Order: sequence, then C-alpha cells, then structure tokens
Amino acid sequence: MKPIRIIQDGREALWRITEADRKKLLRLLFHRYPDSEWGTFFRFGYRRTRWGILITWVDTLKPESGDLDRNSPLVEFRPAYIRRALAVLDSDELGVGVIHSHPQDCATFPRRADDDMDSYFAEEFERFGNGRPYASFIVARNADRELSFSGRVFDRGNWLPVKNWLAVGERLFREKARKESNLFVTTHKPETNGTTQERLTQLLGADAPQRLHDAVVGVVGCSGTGSPAIHLLARAEIGELVLVDPGQFKPSNHQRNHASRHADLSVNPAPTKVALASRLVREISPATKVTGFVGDLLDEVVLDELVRCDLILGCTDSNYARAVLGDIASHYLVPVLDLAVQMRAEEGILREQIGEIARYAPGLPCPWCRGRISVDGIRYETATEAERQFRAEAAAAAEQRGVDGAQYWGGTPPPELTVGYLTTTVGAMGAGYAQNLLLGSGKLPHNRFQFDLGFSSLGVVADERPQRTDCACRRTVGWSEQARADRSVSHPSHWPPATKVSNGQ
Ligand SMILES: [Zn+2]
Ligand SMILES: [Zn+2]
Repeated sequence: MKPIRIIQDGREALWRITEADRKKLLRLLFHRYPDSEWGTFFRFGYRRTRWGILITWVDTLKPESGDLDRNSPLVEFRPAYIRRALAVLDSDELGVGVIHSHPQDCATFPRRADDDMDSYFAEEFERFGNGRPYASFIVARNADRELSFSGRVFDRGNWLPVKNWLAVGERLFREKARKESNLFVTTHKPETNGTTQERLTQLLGADAPQRLHDAVVGVVGCSGTGSPAIHLLARAEIGELVLVDPGQFKPSNHQRNHASRHADLSVNPAPTKVALASRLVREISPATKVTGFVGDLLDEVVLDELVRCDLILGCTDSNYARAVLGDIASHYLVPVLDLAVQMRAEEGILREQIGEIARYAPGLPCPWCRGRISVDGIRYETATEAERQFRAEAAAAAEQRGVDGAQYWGGTPPPELTVGYLTTTVGAMGAGYAQNLLLGSGKLPHNRFQFDLGFSSLGVVADERPQRTDCACRRTVGWSEQARADRSVSHPSHWPPATKVSNGQ
C-alpha cells in the first residue's frame, strides 16, 4: 500500500451536493447510530481547475443486502459491492467514490483501516476508470447533532484535501472540514471590527456576519443591476466576490452604475466595469477579496472561479449569459439568481417599469424551460461582425424580394432603456435574497416573478411552471465537465480571452 500524503501546495478539492441529496445521504450513513458506522459508494462529476478539483454529487450506489457486513460495527466493503462499483465506471465518464460515517462523537480523521481502504480504492478506480479521480469522505455527528467531516480526493498521483462542503437548497450551507485541533469546537473569530454589522447581528443573530464572511458570491454583469448588488454585498462584508463583465464603462452607464465617479467619464481609454466595481469594493470593504475578470463567463479561467461560488447573481441582459448560467446551475450545482429589468415609455408616459427575479438551481426549470431566451438571440450575440453584416444584408435582400427577412435575424436588438432607480431596486433585492439564502433567514417568494412599479399592488406575476419533461436540465444534473455535451451554448472562439483584475488581496 502506498502511504497517503495530502499535498500542501494550496490546491484543494471542493465538494458540492444538493440539500435534498445530502439529507438522504446522512439518513443512510447515520442509520446505525450512535455506535455503528455505515457507508456507500457514490457517483460524482468533476472539473479539474486552477485551484484544485471540483467534485459534484450525482447519486448514491446504495449498498444492497450483503454488500456491507451488518455484523461489524465498522464499514467493510465486500468484493461483490466493489465489483459492482467498478463496473459502473464503464457506463459513463463519471467518477466513483466512497463515503462512510464514524460513530457518534468520534473524530472524522481517517484511521489506519481508512488509509488502507483509500489507497487500495484510489489505485483500482484510477485504473478501471482510465485516470479518473477517486473521492473519499468521512462524516460524523455528535450528540447535539452537529456535523463534522473530512475528505480527500486522489487525482493524477496527488491526494488533495477537501476543505469545504457546499449544500445547495432553500438554504446554502458551507461546512468547513474539521482539523484535528478543533473537533466539534465552533470558533467565531470576529473578522470585522464588530460594530459595522451590529444591525445585522441584532436582526439575524451573532453567527450571521461570519457566514457572510465565509461566502464567495459571483456577480456576472457589473453595471445596471450588478453594481448596486456588488455595492450592498461589499457593505455586508462578503468574504469574496467573483466579478465578471467583458465591457468598458461608457458615459451612458454613469446614471446607473454605482461604481463610477464623475472623473471616470473623461478617462481615456475608458476603465473596465470590473475595474470600477473592484475599486468600489476595496473602498467600502478592504477585507472583501475581489477576483475579477474582464471577459466571458465560459472562458475556462472564469468558469474555474464561478464553480466555487456559494451562488451567482446574473446581472446581464443577454440570452447567451442566461443560457450559460442555467447550465452552470444544473451541471455544477451552483445556484443562480437572475435579475432583469425592462422599461418602456410612450410620449413621455411610462408604460412599463418591470423588475424580474428568477432562480436557477438543480431541479428548477432552466431559462429554456421558462421560454426566457431564444436561439436567434444567442446567435446574434455570439456572431462575428462579418456574420452580422452578412445576415443584415441577407435580410435586406429578402425584404426587397418581398420575403419576410426576420428569419435572417437582420435586426440589431434595441438598446436597453432603463434608468437607475429601477436597476438599483432590482440589484438591491438580488443582494438581499442572496444574503437570506446564505443565512437561511428567508426564502424567495417565487422561483420566478415579475413586478411593475407603476401597477396597483406592484403587479406581481409569478411563474411557477415545472421543468419541461424533455429539457436537458433534467439530465446530467451534477455532471460537471462530464455534462459538456449537454451545454446549451459554447464559448465563441472569436471572443478575446479573459483578463484578471484583482484588488490585491
Ligand atoms: Zn473510517
Ligand atoms: Zn430546462
């Protein structure tokens, strides 16, 4: 047996699961409590990233009668069960791992027998899986039902430590792996000066600031709805923000953008929206780390950072970005709150002041199911200038022949005419719902809803339609990279590569 040494080069493994799966899993693992352990094989999706490896739970390969020894208080995987788990590797590209419990009040550090088991399985699963990673977790609960866990992932010759475990549901949990020194000891280190979050702790309890400090929130789109959301998340002293926007600041943005100053209007070349947002965060909350990207969210560098977020706020108005965010939610188990605004006026009279908030998450309808995006829109957004020109000419020629030119999507979409009070309202609501999901302090009223500020009772309309039975968002949930074939859009190769902006943390 090769000894197990966890690498110490800063790389780590991150484990994501849905709250529903976590509940079922823990019931299985603790069903012989308090004295005896239990375990199971499971399938997982994975993505190798610049910071380590993401492991996303797919399903349990539940032990059947005779697979584990019921007479032993310890977990012993019998050969037939191991053969069954190895055979699963043939059916798809997913990885297979092991999770087991330790008895109540026991530590979750691997014992000698666990080391023997893991080094044996790591080798077998790597060999039968043609180089696929192997994951192993240990969980335990104490008499107060407090959970602790440890985990490690074997990939390409290295053992990576699992430091965080994220569970996605009505509440977003982030459990940290226990170190040998702080077993079942909850430490509240006051990272802030204690008074800036006083109102929050009075309202929602003493643990609230720490949970926000531990959180990583992605914001895709850093202008109209994105910049007020970023502003409030910085004031909430969120631990880290991953900011993504390909664009440069334009004078017409100034009316809505919370990050721009008057002096920015005359800077040449214009600053990027991400640089402005990063400056805003630094000035409000220097303890908040910013990882910013000028670029596209499907750029591999950007996606690496988005898949480690507790949740993502979608603050764009593009079909393409919505489609990608829908895919990220179902494939990588990262929940998304998608914000949108729309305003329309006739002869100086407002007819529409619409705000919209939609949630994408495993088990919820994606933007395609909700009829929120169109293939034509994505085609236009991802086209090269030459393609747009070609289509415009084809559409014009068709019109001249008396044929409907719309099939060529020749028209340029109208500019978004929204002003700051509405974008700020919706951005602030998004930041609020995000915090409530992190703290478990509140739910969204609906999984998708619109309101209109000019209507009686604010004209709230809810969309609670279920997933479409034939939609790809029901397949390959949690399959990470192994769901690549089910992505609804791909990164346009002519878009420039993302560049990184950070606030020096
Ligand atoms: Zn064990
Ligand atoms: Zn769908």
